[in-house]
Order: sequence, then structure tokens, then C-alpha cells
Amino acid sequence: MKVIAMPQKSVHAGNLILVNGQYPYCLGNVESSLVPVHSDSKVLLERRAAVLLSKLMSSIEGWVQISAVSGWRSRAEQQDIYNQSLRDNGAAFTEQFVAKPDHSEHQTGLAIDLGLRKPEIDFIRPDFPNSGICRTFREKAVDYGFVERYPKGKEAITGIAHEPWHFRYVGAPHAAIMTELGLTLEEYHDFLKQYPHGEKCFLYRNGNQNIATSYGKATAGADAEFEIEGDIPYSVSGNNAGGFVLTEWTNGR
Ligand SMILES: [Zn+2]
Repeated sequence: MKVIAMPQKSVHAGNLILVNGQYPYCLGNVESSLVPVHSDSKVLLERRAAVLLSKLMSSIEGWVQISAVSGWRSRAEQQDIYNQSLRDNGAAFTEQFVAKPDHSEHQTGLAIDLGLRKPEIDFIRPDFPNSGICRTFREKAVDYGFVERYPKGKEAITGIAHEPWHFRYVGAPHAAIMTELGLTLEEYHDFLKQYPHGEKCFLYRNGNQNIATSYGKATAGADAEFEIEGDIPYSVSGNNAGGFVLTEWTNGR
């Protein structure tokens, strides 16, 4: 057994952080880990998300037809986009499609808007149909840790209209679990609370890997401590909502 200690502030960091109307992004300082999504793009993502997106795009030759429309945004950029949309599109449209500053996933560097390449691409609502190369991208996305973040029918849960162009990196195995169970990130974090670390875990099987996922509560003003089996690979992400998600790869044991 080994004990891992998670400082309270690390609740706000990791692939699985929830950023929405209720939970603001409060980490900042993500700039040092940002890289362009491909060699001639100005669109930036957090390094790991960029690497996985790049592998996914290579596997389908995606950049030939798909353009990276918007990735990481600073708070100031999000504020500008929000203000501009209010002026151009009005309040009702803006509330549906543009998050307020600090409440946008784009500030995490883990979210990207993609659109079909064409002479004029709508920056707020790019065209990303469920056909052709875009469909192929959707089918492969989960294998590389990406989910469609704002699906149709879940508007009341996410607080955002259906956005078929907005993808979020959550990593493995979470993208696969969320997709198989049909859960948004909001619902996934609620779901995991049924599996308190040390008592129960959600077991997911991928090939010959057994992957155990569980939830751990943060401790106010102190490190939260979690026991992990000796030598197994594991990861921990904050949920940005008072807790952590622990993932342990037990390889068939
Ligand atoms: Zn977006």
C-alpha cells in the first residue's frame, strides 16, 4: 500500500475538471503547458490533449478537411468573445452558446472547437456535421480520450445548447465510460460519487486491463489522503467541485 496526498488546491487541476455555469475555472497559469494543435496552427491546447488530438487527426488524415477553430482562451479573450456576441447576437443567443468568463472550458486548454474547412467559418458555431470526416472523427474521438461535451438532449444539465463542434479531452478510460453510459461530465461526476474510494469502485474492462475508478472527497485546509495498491499505475484528477477521481489500472488482478 502507498498513500497519496492531494492538497486541497489540486481539486482544481486535472483532465476531469468540471467547468460550467456553476463551477468556475480557477487554476490559471496554464500557459506554460500549451502547445499548438498542429505545426501551422495558432490554436493552442494543453500539451497532453494536443498530443492525443494530433494522434487522432493523423489516424484519419483529419486536418485536410477539418480546421481547429478555437482551443485555449485566456480570460480576457473569453470576455471579448462574450461581449462581442452580446453586441452581435443578443443576450438569448449568447447565453446558449457562449460561456461567461471563468465559466468556459476553453480556459482549461482541454477543449477545442472544430469545423469543416471552408472559406468562411462561423467562429461561435462552426459546421461539424454528423457525416463524412466529421463523423469519422466522432467515432474515433473516444479512443483518444475526447468526448462531445454538449450533446443534444442534455442542455438542461450542461447549461449549454447542443454544440456538435465542441470536444473535450477527459482522457482514458473516462471518455469510453462516459460514452458507453451516455453521461455528460456533470453526470459522470455525480455517478462516481456512488463509488467512494476505499469502499467501492466502478470497474471498467478494456482488453486485458481492469480499470477501477472511484471518488475521493477533498479535505478542507489539509491534504486528502488516499491509499493505493503498491505498484499499479494510477492517476488522480480533481473534479473542480470538492473532490477527486482516482483511476487505478489493475491489469486483470
Ligand atoms: Zn467550444
